[in-house]
Amino acid sequence: METTSGHPAFRVFRFSLLNPTSFTSFTWIPDGALVVNSEGSIAYSGCWADLPREYHAVPVEEYENCVALPGFIDLHVHLPQFHARGKFGKDLLSWLHHVIFPIEATFADPGVARRVARSFFASLAAHGTTTAMVLASVHEEATEIAFEEARRSRLRVILGKINMDMDCPENLRESTTESLAATERLIKNWHGATDKLRYAVTPRYALSCSEDLLRGCADLAGRYGTYIQTHINENLEEIKKVRERFHTSYAELYHRTGLLGKSTVLAHNVHPEEAEIDLLKRTDTAVAHCPDANLFLGSGKFNIEKHLDRGIRFGLGTDVGAGTSLSMLRTMRAMAYVQGRSLHPAGPLYTATRGGAVALGLEKTIGSLNPGACADFVVLDFATMEGDLRGLSADDAAAAIVYKADPHAVLKVYAGGEHVYSRDDQRRAGDQRIIDE
Ligand SMILES: [Zn+2]
Repeated sequence: METTSGHPAFRVFRFSLLNPTSFTSFTWIPDGALVVNSEGSIAYSGCWADLPREYHAVPVEEYENCVALPGFIDLHVHLPQFHARGKFGKDLLSWLHHVIFPIEATFADPGVARRVARSFFASLAAHGTTTAMVLASVHEEATEIAFEEARRSRLRVILGKINMDMDCPENLRESTTESLAATERLIKNWHGATDKLRYAVTPRYALSCSEDLLRGCADLAGRYGTYIQTHINENLEEIKKVRERFHTSYAELYHRTGLLGKSTVLAHNVHPEEAEIDLLKRTDTAVAHCPDANLFLGSGKFNIEKHLDRGIRFGLGTDVGAGTSLSMLRTMRAMAYVQGRSLHPAGPLYTATRGGAVALGLEKTIGSLNPGACADFVVLDFATMEGDLRGLSADDAAAAIVYKADPHAVLKVYAGGEHVYSRDDQRRAGDQRIIDE
């Protein structure tokens, strides 16, 4: 079965399938089949025994004792902080000023920007992440380079240059006008440059932006139809300073400057007031929950029920470099641990995949193994977790992934049906660096 161009019309995979369907449910098929068409979309997913006859002649790629999941969606991650992970900084504001700003300043050097961006996207793929919403540094050229490397990686990337016109070191501070002008140039160059690249206007957070800059950011996003990403309600001291400066709540500030809406993703929201939750609901604004970062900086505990009960869309973010790893497997575990109680594995699995897709308004395209979706999937080697899959219940298999899998469980990663990472190729090449970094 070949197309006229010589590419196979279909590829057939055989492994167990885990397809998250809601915060409390998922489909589990112990002996499953996945068929990918030449456009890189899923043509069939279901039981091996029910594989339609038309695919029977296609050679099968068999993965014994392996589970396929939708590719992970990292909803909040800082590219220039890739090498800042695990650096001690006491709390959010002290860490930001003493650890992060000096590291981000090194991105004025295009060589640094290129080197880090290349290993960052390779590492995302190695961790099974096929879509990421990424914050770059304040530098226009470094952001151009980040987009080039994102395109090269073949991952789906929503990216933006940070906007920052106050309360930061001189070498990172932009004028309001120049910040917006550079952003507009980047939007024109990259928003929709390929079907996998989108721009996200990225005011860093309330304290590093004047109200004029926040309004200018909202205006650009509205005019060009981009995403918006920023931070909210991460740390109590930060929230106090926002109120002192702007005389209102964090969410109300973003609302009055036009930043809230269905294409906006706000990281953290650990300490929202009731009225702020109402505002996020009313404006259909999404949230990125970043548990590993919240544990690292001692910021607090995200209220899952409050967001679920109000129907606020949320996904999961590593928030590297406050997050200590690009691994969404580790971040799912942190999501349970930050709650201080047992969490059924369906919740983290959904949040790391379909929840992120819903937050981005892309649930028809990514975040599931449903027919018609883009064939973004990660193959996990069960031998590294529970040993043998045979005879395991659906819940035990899911719990092993959330509570026992480490980054070496990621065996293969496909984005749009294209193979973007292979653990064994990496090992054969003697290169452990990407996943260990
Ligand atoms: Zn962040």
